[in-house]
Amino acid sequence: MGAESKSQQGGFTVAIDGPAAAGKGTISRAVAAHFGFAHLDTGLLYRAVGRRVLAGADPVAAAQSLDPADLAAPDLLRTAEIAEAASKVAVIPEVRAALVDFQRAFARRAGGAVLDGRDIGTVICPEAEVKLFVTASPEVRAERRLKELREKGFETDFDTVLADVRARDARDGGRATAPMVQAADALALDTSAMGVDDAVAAAIAAVAARRGT
Ligand code: C5P
Repeated sequence: MGAESKSQQGGFTVAIDGPAAAGKGTISRAVAAHFGFAHLDTGLLYRAVGRRVLAGADPVAAAQSLDPADLAAPDLLRTAEIAEAASKVAVIPEVRAALVDFQRAFARRAGGAVLDGRDIGTVICPEAEVKLFVTASPEVRAERRLKELREKGFETDFDTVLADVRARDARDGGRATAPMVQAADALALDTSAMGVDDAVAAAIAAVAARRGT
């Protein structure tokens, strides 16, 4: 479907990609709340598949039979073990293919949608009205992730988290199918030295400029 017919239906898609712990989630939720758009954290789909695989399921069968109930308790999916399992199943083309329709349907819903992930602006929604690529240095991201994990009661240390961040970057950026890469028409937002308020403000300004609001 072309951009023209999509906008005739009243859809408006914001694609937010980037590596783990760069601030995509916070920015996506804030943009969605500001404009009244729905929000989908697409990492949860891969995490839900990863969780089923850790429990012994076949990855492709798990992706093909994913159910909204699998996403009902997102906090249970936000562990380091499930993140690693997610990035392993995410390299399988059939797993990715099984999740495309759901994501595209979400993106086209009337009233607007924000999707965050790794391949939203490049593969899932190449015609998104706004594309952002949110990054930060691996050290800054590891520091943020360490704080988050400690707040949730997980005992770990900086070097372990930094190694996990680098391993996921390498797997997500190096895979053959839908690698994590900045779309040519995406606006890059480096949050390394930026407070969360400034990052959110920059993202909202980019969407407002495109909407003419
Ligand atoms: O964003 P989050 O850290 O929850 O994503 C978990 C993993 O799921 C990522 O490391 C990546 O391998 C995979 N993923 C993906 N494509 C997306 C979203 C997530 O491959 N659109």
